[in-house]
Amino acid sequence: MSNVAKEAIPKRARGAFVQKAKDNVKIEEYDVVQPKDLKPGEALVKVLYSGVCHTDLHAAKGDWPLESKEHLCGGHEGAGTIVAIGDNSSTNLKVGDNVGVKWLADTCMDCEFCRQGLESLCPQAKLSGFTLETFQVDGSFQQYAVSFTNHLTPIPKDMKLDDAAPILCAGVTVYKALKQSNTKAGQWIAIPGAGGGLGHLCVQYANLMGMRVIAIDTGSAKKDLCKELGAEVWIDFKEAKDIVSAIKNATGDGFGPHGAIVTSASASGYEQALDYIRPGGTVVAVGLPAGAFVKSEVFFHVLYERKLVGSYVGNRQDAIEALELANLPGGKVKCHYVTKPLDDLPSIYEDMAAGRMAGRTVLSLF
Ligand code: NAD
Ligand code: ZN
Ligand code: ZN
Repeated sequence: MSNVAKEAIPKRARGAFVQKAKDNVKIEEYDVVQPKDLKPGEALVKVLYSGVCHTDLHAAKGDWPLESKEHLCGGHEGAGTIVAIGDNSSTNLKVGDNVGVKWLADTCMDCEFCRQGLESLCPQAKLSGFTLETFQVDGSFQQYAVSFTNHLTPIPKDMKLDDAAPILCAGVTVYKALKQSNTKAGQWIAIPGAGGGLGHLCVQYANLMGMRVIAIDTGSAKKDLCKELGAEVWIDFKEAKDIVSAIKNATGDGFGPHGAIVTSASASGYEQALDYIRPGGTVVAVGLPAGAFVKSEVFFHVLYERKLVGSYVGNRQDAIEALELANLPGGKVKCHYVTKPLDDLPSIYEDMAAGRMAGRTVLSLF
């Protein structure tokens, strides 16, 4: 069969699993789905690298008002090579292609939302490493992952797979969120969470789009990273006495930033976002902390024509564009990451929960 790689596909491989929400993550062996068992539209991906997103930690902790799959294998920043494609699949992808496994593993491609490119809103969306109800989809914290040809993202041939991995969620999400903020070149954008996985990429995409960046996070490692990446202003949310005034004054005219992309994984990052946004400005909600609410006094919300927009990952085209921008010569957008083996995932989760990680961690699966 031409739709199966020549290399041997093992019967067993290693992955990271959470038995049920709140359990510890464990590295285990599992049965690899064999090429003959793939359905049309499915592909088997040999995952070389996977970024670790705070979303995986939220899912493992059961932070959200949604149930996830039992014996869940997380991961949705996978980068690897197709080793098999199900018979009778209609796709331009081929065995041997480098592809990305992102959060949106598959959508119906035929509902109103899919037709408009709003694939994240598809009621039948299958989510890598999360999964709702009947759609059981494991993610990229495993050496061989079944994914779907509709939504696998082609990775440029000359792009390193470890560089590409974090773009599949962190990159595409902030790239789309920046577009949603309607902030233009020369205008100010505030980024709470700027030193984290999403945030530090947001600083770079914003710079590339010509925006002036106010980075908000805490600690010297994140400060150094944000400054190195071109943030014009740094504000430490733990040290600032009056964070609303600090952010408003950062723009020089006291009106505050035109846009804000909230990538904080804790509720505190949301508390004052609508208080410091410029009149007419847009706050884009991206971070998904447990039990968080955004409050805005209606009087001032109306008077200052404030906008609050939710932004959820991106569509297939956003993913392709985000990768292309991260692969530009000169490296204007480049994920800063440390590479660790799969076995380190439990301690990576601990560091992430404690806010000790500047940039991203990428798992090496082989
Ligand atoms: P991360 O842990 O790498 O980064 C979060 C950062 O927020 C940390 O650097 C932390 O210090 C900072 N922070 C915490 N409280 C803050 C505050 N009050 N003000 C400013 N900064 C603060 O996490 P990540 O992987 O970048 O993910 C961030 C969030 O985005 C998570 O909640 C994740 O689930 C969510 N997410 C959403 C989407 C989406 O489609 N909307 C996609 C991916 C991730
Ligand atoms: Zn993610
Ligand atoms: Zn759909």
